[in-house]
Amino acid sequence: MAGSTKQQASAAIPRIVDARKLVQRDQELSGIVPVDGLERLRSTVESVDGDVHAELVFGRDLNRHMVVEGKVSCDVQLLCQRCLQPMPESVEAKVHWGIVWSEEQGKLLPKDLDPVIQEGDELNLYQVLEDEILLNLPMVAYHEEECVPRDKFQFGDEPQGEEEQRENPFKVLEQLKGSSDKS
Ligand SMILES: [Zn+2]
Repeated sequence: MAGSTKQQASAAIPRIVDARKLVQRDQELSGIVPVDGLERLRSTVESVDGDVHAELVFGRDLNRHMVVEGKVSCDVQLLCQRCLQPMPESVEAKVHWGIVWSEEQGKLLPKDLDPVIQEGDELNLYQVLEDEILLNLPMVAYHEEECVPRDKFQFGDEPQGEEEQRENPFKVLEQLKGSSDKS
């Protein structure tokens, strides 16, 4: 989208940080995550519209855990599993990280913190923020409006068909791509 709000005031947040230092400073980071750096997201969705925004606050919780609170959000286009056309979807993922240096430390964190493992002095923020977006993408997307005539997609009469679609979003694609595989 070469849209109106393309150039917002926000600059890119740093890709590599030392979370320990940011915690010491109670640092707040707010800005965009360049989509170019998010290969996995770009290959998962039809397209990413506009910027990915992140707001992160580093600090310690009452139990002295190093934590990061905040959110990351973006607008993407997903493939509607009914008509196979792109549809817009807004994704907002909450961030409740506990910064640790090993999986063992991560297991000791309280359940409401998601362990994020920093390697030495370096935490790749883009990577962990991308993880959060991917985890919060809907498994299956449908247009809200009736994009395919109702008689081809009845909820009441064909519960099985509908169920099947929900369980396996890629089935329709498979069928379109290579019905010959199945015979
Ligand atoms: Zn649709």
